[in-house]
Amino acid sequence: LRGRSCWGVCLSDNVTIEVRELTKRYGELVAVNGISFTVNRGEIFAFLGPNGAGKTTTVEILECLRKPTGGKAFVLGFDIGKNPREIKKRSGVLPQDFYTYERLTVRETVQYYAGMFDAHPDVDELIRLVDLEDKKNVLFRNLSGGLKQRLGIAVALVNDPELIFLDEPSAGLDPKARHGVWHLIDGLHKKGKTVFLTTHYMEEAEVLADRVGIIHYGKIVALDSPQNLISENG
Ligand code: ATP
Repeated sequence: LRGRSCWGVCLSDNVTIEVRELTKRYGELVAVNGISFTVNRGEIFAFLGPNGAGKTTTVEILECLRKPTGGKAFVLGFDIGKNPREIKKRSGVLPQDFYTYERLTVRETVQYYAGMFDAHPDVDELIRLVDLEDKKNVLFRNLSGGLKQRLGIAVALVNDPELIFLDEPSAGLDPKARHGVWHLIDGLHKKGKTVFLTTHYMEEAEVLADRVGIIHYGKIVALDSPQNLISENG
């Protein structure tokens, strides 16, 4: 699957996402305006920008939930326009404001989503990974915001994806819960997963990301490592 040719260029083993001139219009509004970037294998790539900048639209196009108006994108070597099923099978998604059945327990929730993917993860191991062992019999509706997000991350991992999309994973959480989610994301990175993260917290991008793309009014205005962005722009 790797090394396949797109636009006459060979995607190397190191490239997990390749985006070229991607555009999304909602009527008159240009939400994503001809953006191009790549995400390397095994890195945490953060898409940083204020509300309404176009982050969710971009990430949902890459997850094959929305169709672009123009441009191209390849995810895990597959064309988003031609092979959405292959991309969905191989990636994990934490949507913005993860919510699920209120009356299922943590364990039942993970089992339910594993069944949807026809996946056979070690459910207890996944629950341990997100540090919810002592909550596995607690109903979703009785979890705090931070614990709901951790469960959402476990759900995103049921199919053992090599690429994980996390849309604003710590939005609205208190600092302690936010650090818990960061620790978890760092653990995914250490396991060699590629993580595409959207955030409006600069600190989150700085702490977690290998590279940061800053998006503003649908355009990428800067893209570099956090260290370089800080030393060049303050
Ligand atoms: P947020 O963090 O608030 O979700 P964002 O950076 O993820 O912000 P998007 O949700 O991608 O931004 O929205 C980009 C722009 O597109 C916004 O102006 C938004 O109102 C608009 N938009 C998003 N989805 C739709 C839709 N389905 N129909 C029309 N306009 C939309």
